[in-house]
Amino acid sequence: PVFSEIDMADLVASVVMMIRPLANRQECALHVHTEENLPPVTGDRPLLSETLINLIVNALEATPDHGTVTVSATTDHFEKEGVRTPCVRIDVKDTGHGIAEDRVNTIFEPFFTTKASGTGLGLPLVLHTVESHGGSLRITSKLKEGTTFSVFLPLNFSEP
Ligand code: ADP
Ligand code: MG
Repeated sequence: PVFSEIDMADLVASVVMMIRPLANRQECALHVHTEENLPPVTGDRPLLSETLINLIVNALEATPDHGTVTVSATTDHFEKEGVRTPCVRIDVKDTGHGIAEDRVNTIFEPFFTTKASGTGLGLPLVLHTVESHGGSLRITSKLKEGTTFSVFLPLNFSEP
């Protein structure tokens, strides 16, 4: 990875602009909320873009026509090795079919997919990228109601 200072509000905007036609095709609302004056994170821009693309495309694929996908970027804190760590938090929230509780770990296995033409490689890559940025990933899901993937990227990350 090539690390630099990244404005996640800017990165979210450019990824959403790229994916919007996909959302329009299924008449899915694609909302973006980014906090003002978001502090920069240290990250690899292509890898973080790929991460967001994977999460948003998954959200759209899980969401029936006329659903809603919301991407937000805020400042927050998360627990890292027992230490409260300041971070930028990206939430990708959908109103899709949800994930069964007993499958929340399985979806991170390489090649696990529930799609006819899925690769099952998106989430393993997402997890790898988030971890290589010193961050953390959280899933909140309710069957038939929807899912939120939250990515926590520490502000003070120094590459290994
Ligand atoms: P693929 O998208 O090729 O299936 P992924 O690794 O991206 O592979 O996702 C693996 C599986 O996780 C998906 O097939 C789907 O069953 C589940 N999944 C991922 N994101 C969501 C989501 N937002 N809502 C419901 N299920 C999801
Ligand atoms: Mg995928």
